[in-house]
Amino acid sequence: MNDFICPECGGHIRVGDHIIFRVRNKERQTALLLLSPQIGNYSSIKHPSFEFSPGEKLDFFCPLCSKSLKSDIHENLAHVVMIDETGKKFDVYFSQVAGEHSTYKTDGVSVQSAGEDAGKYTYFKLGDRFRKYL
Ligand SMILES: [Zn+2]
Repeated sequence: MNDFICPECGGHIRVGDHIIFRVRNKERQTALLLLSPQIGNYSSIKHPSFEFSPGEKLDFFCPLCSKSLKSDIHENLAHVVMIDETGKKFDVYFSQVAGEHSTYKTDGVSVQSAGEDAGKYTYFKLGDRFRKYL
């Protein structure tokens, strides 16, 4: 089982078959959003009272320390840390834009992408500089 942790506090944000986030929509309403820990699976679970439109950018926060998960690569991408079964760490980036399917997993040397919108954000810090990975 891959674990997911917050890059700010190191707390576990994967519980069972979901990664749990606190999100905020453009009306500044906050809610919990559950995403799949499988990279490339974009199913999500939320309370029906929390609404957002396709294309709306949500802000993702750690549910434990409340820090923003916005990445330093692009304001549309959130950043979490994944630890696989062998203990290896990866940085995982995904789009905070509702309906935009782009996810990137990198160990700092190479980048794997998933989602039909993955071509949108292609510059990643690998080693000590930003490189286009496609
Ligand atoms: Zn945290």
